[in-house]
Amino acid sequence: ATPTSIMVGTGRAAQMGVLLRQGQALQQLKDAQVVAVDKTGTLTKGRPELTDLLLAQGLERAAVLARVAAVEDRSEHPIARAIVDAARAEGLAIPAVQSFESVTGFGVRAMVDGARVEIGADRFMRELGLSVEGFAGAAARLGDEGKTPLYAAVDGQLAAMIAVADPIKPTTRAAIDALHGLGLKVAMITGDNRHTAQAIARQLGIDEVVAEVLPGGKVDAVKRLKAEHGTLAYVGDGINDAPALAEADVGIAIGTGTDIAIEAADVVLMSGDLGGVPKAIALSKATMQNIG
Ligand code: ADP
Ligand code: MG
Repeated sequence: ATPTSIMVGTGRAAQMGVLLRQGQALQQLKDAQVVAVDKTGTLTKGRPELTDLLLAQGLERAAVLARVAAVEDRSEHPIARAIVDAARAEGLAIPAVQSFESVTGFGVRAMVDGARVEIGADRFMRELGLSVEGFAGAAARLGDEGKTPLYAAVDGQLAAMIAVADPIKPTTRAAIDALHGLGLKVAMITGDNRHTAQAIARQLGIDEVVAEVLPGGKVDAVKRLKAEHGTLAYVGDGINDAPALAEADVGIAIGTGTDIAIEAADVVLMSGDLGGVPKAIALSKATMQNIG
């Protein structure tokens, strides 16, 4: 393509809300074989809500939820806000905490009223030597509904299972259908629970799921998908997506995402959803074809 056609293509992309930070992106997009996508905040709204709270024998909802919310009040994770909002909506007072600690990819812990409270994924509980067997059936069922099951422990005893649900953005399904229409494969890469990720993938017609990925593991997943499928575009919004955005042949950040993701990307979607991806790929094909 000539410099003029690239300039025209870049301008047309901007009109569609697709910002090309890298001149080469327009040329590379047409070759994409697979689009790998982060789940939370990219496919979904990134604003989960608490849907279920199951208690261990003999425990009281208000007491457990208040302690859990106290710890989550210190966390930046979207899951944390869901839990704090639920506690506030129930009119609970949120106690102060000491020694807050975030274990990235696993969960959070702090001291509340002299009790050690730990909240996170099943792998966090296993790490603490706790069995989540008693909640396994419920967790699998909720996961199959696309909800994320989490666990809370108080002083080393399993206290509750909590489920949160993060709604899919209304534009996601059409964007994935359009990518399939262009002949691309779509893969999801997420730190979330396997059942949950597979349920969301089923709802959206996503071809491949890489779930329960630890922070840092997204890059390895991108490398593997590249080796398997060829030229890869990665779409994400979070701090933990930045290395994957850099590793991809084309890194695409959601415009409403974190600055760190945007800095690492070649392309920014100003619309804040996946819809710009098939549009940009179609434009790339059209631009490169016209000029040959
Ligand atoms: P993702 O962005 O895909 O959620 P993270 O690495 O941030 O990936 O989190 C992975 C998992 O760790 C979450 O799905 C959740 O199970 C657990 N987790 C992380 N932070 C928290 C938190 N503040 N409260 C409860 N669970 C958490
Ligand atoms: Mg995200």
